[in-house]
Amino acid sequence: MPPLKNDCFALPPGVHWTPVDEALADLRTRLSCVVEQEIVPVADALDRILATDITAPRAHPPLPNTAVDGYGFLNGRGEGDHHIPLVAQHMPAGATPDASVPAGTAIQILTGAALPPGVDTVILQEDVTVEDDAIHFTGPIKQGANTRKAGEDVEAGDVIAQAGRRLTPADLALLSAVGVAEVRVRRSLRVGILSTGDELVQPDDDAGPGQIYDANRPMLRGLIARLGHVPVDLGHVVDDRAALRARLDQGAEQADVTFTSGGASAGDADHVSALLNEAGAMALWRVAIKPGRPLALGMWQGKPVFGLPGNPVAAMVCTLVFGAPALSLLAGADWKSPQGFMVPAGFAKTKKAGRREFSRARIRGGQVEVFASEGSGRISGLSWAEGLVELPDEAMSVRQGDLVRFIPWAGFGA
Ligand code: AMP
Ligand code: MG
Repeated sequence: MPPLKNDCFALPPGVHWTPVDEALADLRTRLSCVVEQEIVPVADALDRILATDITAPRAHPPLPNTAVDGYGFLNGRGEGDHHIPLVAQHMPAGATPDASVPAGTAIQILTGAALPPGVDTVILQEDVTVEDDAIHFTGPIKQGANTRKAGEDVEAGDVIAQAGRRLTPADLALLSAVGVAEVRVRRSLRVGILSTGDELVQPDDDAGPGQIYDANRPMLRGLIARLGHVPVDLGHVVDDRAALRARLDQGAEQADVTFTSGGASAGDADHVSALLNEAGAMALWRVAIKPGRPLALGMWQGKPVFGLPGNPVAAMVCTLVFGAPALSLLAGADWKSPQGFMVPAGFAKTKKAGRREFSRARIRGGQVEVFASEGSGRISGLSWAEGLVELPDEAMSVRQGDLVRFIPWAGFGA
C-alpha cells in the first residue's frame, strides 16, 4: 500500500476547463487504497470491501440431492403404470447417505436430502399413491428428474467473489453456503467532514440576520454513511487560517481523507484552497460541470483533502460525481461508475456545448421530471429529487419524450 504522492492531484499547466470524464479518469489513475486489512466473521461483513479473492472451499451443493419431497429410485420410467416397492428407511435432509437403495426399490426422501447410492431420480410425493409398502404412479418420468447435481451452483475452487467487491446480503449467503466463515476485508474508510465559513451557525445557535445554518455537514455525513464509509465529524470553522489549519491537522489525524465545504475557490476568504496551496499540494480542478465550481484537491500531511464548493447543491453533486468513485478507490473497492438508465423526458430544455449538466430529477408516471428552478441555492430541490438527470457535454435540445439519462441516488451508491 504505497502512500499517495503529494502531487497526486497535479494538473497539466494551461488547462482551463477539464471535461468531467477526464477529471474522473485522473482520479481513477491517481488514487489507490489507503486502508489496511482486517479479518471479520462473514456475519459481520455486510458492506465491507473484500481485500482478497474468495475461493469456494467446498462445492454447493456438496452432494447430489433432491429438490422436492418425494420418492427416489434409479433411472427414469416410460409411459404407463409403475409400482416400486419401498425400502423401510427414509432420507431426511442432513442424513448421511450410506446404505445403498437396491435396484428396483424406492426410498422416501425429503427436500435437500442427499441422494443415497442407487438413487438418481425423484418423483414428487403428490404424483404417487402409497399402498402396500410400494409407490404407484403413471409415467413417464425422466432420469434425473427433481434432483440437483453436486457443484451445479458452485464447484469447490471456484472464485466466488473478487477483491474490491463490497459485500451484499446475497454475497453473505453465498460465502456461508460454501463454508467460508471469515473474510479478509478492508478497514472502513474514515472520512472527515468539515464546514467552513463565517456565515455559518449550528442548529442550536441563534442565527443573526446575515447568518445561515450549516446544511452541508449533516448532508455530507449522510452521504458518506450511505456510500458505506465512516463519517468523522470535524465540525465547523470560521474563515480563519489558523483555525482551519488546526482542523485540517485534526482531520489528517482522525480520518483517512477529509471533505471540506466552502472556501474552495480562489477568493480572499477562500482559506481552504489557500492553505492547500501553501502546503504545496493543491490543484484547483476547474471541471466543466454544472452545478459545481472549482474543486480544490490537495494533500494535507499525506492525506487527501477534497475541497467541495460551499453551495449545498454543488457540494452534493460533486460528492456524488467525483467523491463517490474516489472514496471507493481509497477504501479499496473497485472504481464505480454511476449506474443510470434512459427515461423519456417530462420536460424540455436546451443546453450549450462545453459542460456536463446535472439536474435534480425524479421519475413520475414513467417520465423523468426536473426541479422547476435550476437555482443552485435551492436545497428544497435536492430534497424533492430522487436522483439526477445527466445531460452530456455536447449541446443538446431535449424535447418532451426524448430519452435522457436518469441516475437515481442509489445509482451513485448513495
Ligand atoms: P463558498 O464556497 O464558501 O464561497 O460558499 C458558497 C455558498 O455556499 C455561499 O452562499 C455559502 O454561504 C454557502 N455555504 C457554504 N457552506 C455552507 C454550508 N455548510 N451550509 C449551507 N450553505 C453553505
Ligand atoms: Mg465561504
